Amino acid sequence: MKVTEHIAKAQGKTLFSFEIVPPKKGNSIEELYKNIEPLLEFKPPFIDVTTSREEFYYKEHSNGLLEKKIVRMRPGTVGICSAIQHKYNVDTVPHVLCGGFTREETEDLLVDCFYLGIDNIMALRGDAMKEEKYFRPTKNGNVYALDLVKQINDLRKGIYLHDTLENNTGMDFCIGVAGYPEKHIEAPSKTFDLEKLKEKVDNGADYVVTQMFFDNKQYFDFVEKARQMGINVPIIPGIKPISVKRHLNIIPQAFFLDFPEELVKEIEKCKNNNEVKQVGIEWAIAQSKELRQAGVPSLHYYSMGKSENIIQIISKVF
Ligand code: FAD
Repeated sequence: MKVTEHIAKAQGKTLFSFEIVPPKKGNSIEELYKNIEPLLEFKPPFIDVTTSREEFYYKEHSNGLLEKKIVRMRPGTVGICSAIQHKYNVDTVPHVLCGGFTREETEDLLVDCFYLGIDNIMALRGDAMKEEKYFRPTKNGNVYALDLVKQINDLRKGIYLHDTLENNTGMDFCIGVAGYPEKHIEAPSKTFDLEKLKEKVDNGADYVVTQMFFDNKQYFDFVEKARQMGINVPIIPGIKPISVKRHLNIIPQAFFLDFPEELVKEIEKCKNNNEVKQVGIEWAIAQSKELRQAGVPSLHYYSMGKSENIIQIISKVF
């Protein structure tokens, strides 16, 4: 079932959803299942599975020369989505990236999703590769998430890359896209970023999931401006519970966002990461309660594969 259908069916009741990261290649999927299972008791209608960019690594040869190779360390997004859907009967949302994929590969990946009964796709540009400062589009790949949205929207209408196909069955995906309450790091202004979001929606995106934020005002302002601009699809807030002290430095740099003073003070007072985790849980509970009261479509948690703190939060919120 589509994310938008789940939202419509809930008739204004706030849903609970979360995002997981595939395990590193070489590990089994069992650890992931162990983390998901306790969360299933809270009946999430859909679970997102992220996709990681490929990485460079250097293979040393016996003559001492280094060979630069490319590897995807966390493959398996579509496989995990399918496994979860069939094992637990929960809808899944694979994240599909522009970066690292040609348009042909993207089309084939979407065909796999269609055959596997996956109804939703989160369409994203992806970040720069770890070793690169800026995002570099892949040769013959989509450049912006907008281009990917357009490709998926074409496939909904049965428009494939080849016009020589005998049949062209449409693949009716529900399309999610990313939104940034505190603006995307590369965008010159919040208005510019919102205009780009509107283009994604005007070209077929059905709903938006936001980047994490720690001050609900950022989300409320963002939604208000989006509505003024004519973006009328559901905007799902993304919530991340802080769990270690170094998040205070890493997160603002990585995601271009601010921590509220009060949260910074609380975290700074903590003597160890157990205390930080507890502050993170309390903060996320307060954020979630207020957002739920405001009638947001779903509370979407960035779980990073760890369920323990998410359980503590949602058992207080729902
Ligand atoms: P876009 O919408 O393409 O925007 C990228 C930037 O380009 C923005 O600054 C925008 O304002 C600008 N822009 C857009 N169109 C134009 C144009 N025509 N001309 C000039 N500028 C333009 N990353 C992963 O690698 N894997 C994941 O699984 C993943 N999941 C995510 C889930 C969520 C909910 C969110 C919020 C982010 C996620 N990301 C993920 C991170 C995301 O890939 C990065 O934030 C990326 O840098 C931008 O992706 P986007 O889809 O927002 O890009």
